[in-house]
Amino acid sequence: MVPSPRLARSVDDNPHEPDNFGMSVPRPAARPVFLLLLTAGLAACGGGSSTPSSPVSPTPPVATPTPTPPTPSFAFAVAGRTIASGTRGPVAGASLTFAGGPPTQSAADGTFRYTSATTPASTPYRVDVVAPGHVDRSLWLRYERERTDVQIDLLPLSAPFALDFYRQLVRNATETPAELQPLRRLTRPPSIYVRTVDTSGRDVDPATIASITATIQSSVREFSGGTLQVATIETGRDDPERTGWITVVFEENPFSNTCGQARLAGDPGRIWLNLNRCGGCPGTRIRPATVAHEVGHALGFWHVDGREHVMAPIEDRPCTQTAPTPIEQLHASIAYSRAPGNLDPDIDPQSGAAQLAGDHTPIVISCIRPSR
Ligand SMILES: [Zn+2]
Repeated sequence: MVPSPRLARSVDDNPHEPDNFGMSVPRPAARPVFLLLLTAGLAACGGGSSTPSSPVSPTPPVATPTPTPPTPSFAFAVAGRTIASGTRGPVAGASLTFAGGPPTQSAADGTFRYTSATTPASTPYRVDVVAPGHVDRSLWLRYERERTDVQIDLLPLSAPFALDFYRQLVRNATETPAELQPLRRLTRPPSIYVRTVDTSGRDVDPATIASITATIQSSVREFSGGTLQVATIETGRDDPERTGWITVVFEENPFSNTCGQARLAGDPGRIWLNLNRCGGCPGTRIRPATVAHEVGHALGFWHVDGREHVMAPIEDRPCTQTAPTPIEQLHASIAYSRAPGNLDPDIDPQSGAAQLAGDHTPIVISCIRPSR
């Protein structure tokens, strides 16, 4: 953008003011508006001996000094806090690098402020954060001339967070430790369709349907850190595949070793449940923990070690267990605060959609009944 001669005389002495990355900014028009508003503001505030409502007298123009707008001393600025994922306590001494500029440090209370004399080369621009006792993080920020209250949470290398457990739950380190997966998760509240007949056309009893829908509703909330709630629940005899929906279907196959299956963060989502095969509970022909387990897969999570956890690949859990453990919920909620496509250890993609583009093959997880 070539400044006009009029602009070149502006007190705004930054000829390289950002141009919104290609969009022209009508700067010449902005200055007169500013002055007009300023004048009006002074009149409205009153003060002095003149009556604000009295007509403006034809006072001869005095050489009024032009108000000097604050001279911008930066091309862009970012202020905020570095905090620990989960506990959200301050992270002091974090080193933050914005758009490849010189690093800035967070203070004892986690606050930071960075100013740059040059605009970033692109938007969003990359931010790299390194802090003692925490996992390095890379993320992307959309360019704004001045951003405030930017909260950047870092994975702590201390309890209650456990990077090993997070890698199992989010990256399938349990089964493919040499091939850690990108974060897959839902990005909008799912609707649920529960089929009321099994694959043989037999009705599924209403008590089981009621138990399953209740568990799905609570599990969606618990596996997403409360960020997602089931949008709608429908039941019926159809078997639809609809974007934004998770369809729950039943079979009753005593010869299968599978208690359930689910598409991992699939859209359309799908959960298969094998009735009676892996043990029911009072009032339901499938354990609530089995349903919660498949919901965990449907929301993007993998198997973990530790029999106490709902995402452990076992099926003989007590009927009283209906929810993911607090440790599972903590780690899952952190995953749901990250961009889809986030890579190990904590690297956000520039665009979550781009990162997973082409990855349309549903991942079906079978949950095998332990051999006896
Ligand atoms: Zn499973």
